[in-house]
Amino acid sequence: MGRPHLLGLTRSQLAERAVEWGFARIHAASLWNELYLKGRRAPAELPPHDRMPARFLERVFAECDFDFPEVARETHSSDGFTRKYLLGLRDAHRIETVLMRYSGRTTACVSSQVGCAMGCVFCATGQMGYTRHLTAAEIVAQALHVDRVLRATAASDPQVGGATPALAEPEHASPHHRHERLRNIVFMGMGEPLHNYDEVMQAIDILRDPAGLALGAQKISVSTVGVVPGIRRLAAERRPVHLAVSLHGATQEERAALVPAARKWKLDELMDACREYTATLGRRIFFEWTLIEGKNDGPDHAHAVGALLAGIPAQVNLIPLNPTFGYDGRPTQPAGARGFQDVLAGYGIPCTVRQRRGIDIAAGCGQLALNTP
Ligand code: SF4
Repeated sequence: MGRPHLLGLTRSQLAERAVEWGFARIHAASLWNELYLKGRRAPAELPPHDRMPARFLERVFAECDFDFPEVARETHSSDGFTRKYLLGLRDAHRIETVLMRYSGRTTACVSSQVGCAMGCVFCATGQMGYTRHLTAAEIVAQALHVDRVLRATAASDPQVGGATPALAEPEHASPHHRHERLRNIVFMGMGEPLHNYDEVMQAIDILRDPAGLALGAQKISVSTVGVVPGIRRLAAERRPVHLAVSLHGATQEERAALVPAARKWKLDELMDACREYTATLGRRIFFEWTLIEGKNDGPDHAHAVGALLAGIPAQVNLIPLNPTFGYDGRPTQPAGARGFQDVLAGYGIPCTVRQRRGIDIAAGCGQLALNTP
């Protein structure tokens, strides 16, 4: 195992390390506060004090890494509701993270891998191929970055739409202070989170810590293209997150044409895992459906979805296709999306059409690919 990164340790793991090194737990608790409540980003921002003595910090940085990805580029959507960050990792690979702020919600869309192995044909990340998993620390750093932006901008820039102000030090350090905080995380950025299960779950444990970012269980969504072992593991471990399953096709053949991973985890096996998940946890599943004109958006397709989801507590989110360079399909028009919705309503399945936001900066679903128009 390589050197641990401070942002990849849970609060209790950090305390255990402190004790192993001969220090008191209170020292680790103080360091945790500095990281998660005061938003420190570098060793130089951590001056020693009574509860966090210099010799403790020396040992911490002798044993652990602590840095943040560099923001290589920041782009703002024209409507002011979306920001996209191109982040440079230590090994020179890059990822993208998106801040969304609309409908009274602040949400970070985080990446879980550099690239993706699943190869969904309409997805810019899938078109890049897979490079590597992200570490828990690299996932946590994305959330902390977005949280810091929100805290720094809320007072002066309530729509998060103007010029980027300096990232000022937060004045108060408490989970309930007056600045705006990150409230929701969706694992819908680059990568398939259940392909990187252990690091993603470690990151979620850290992000949920009530003494840190304190994200509620109902505020974290994990999206999968249908990695069946991961869905079964989520159920077995009773992980308190929302599950979103990307369906896109209601027959094995149609689905596999859009989602190559479906050849490995077949549709009937996926639906069995979904039934097991809802039966075990008593929670509904969100099914994502990218609407592609003339491909999977007709009434027959909608009826097939209705039949497929019979008996499963479900909500369907329709996502009109977002453009990418590598796929020439077109999005379904609003009337077609409404028709699809109406058919599902007949089956008693709640269904929403996702608002198209951040498309002008390639920050929409399936568009993350390290390039900006
Ligand atoms: S849609 Fe998700 S799972 Fe599919 S290729 Fe893109 S990032 Fe990977």
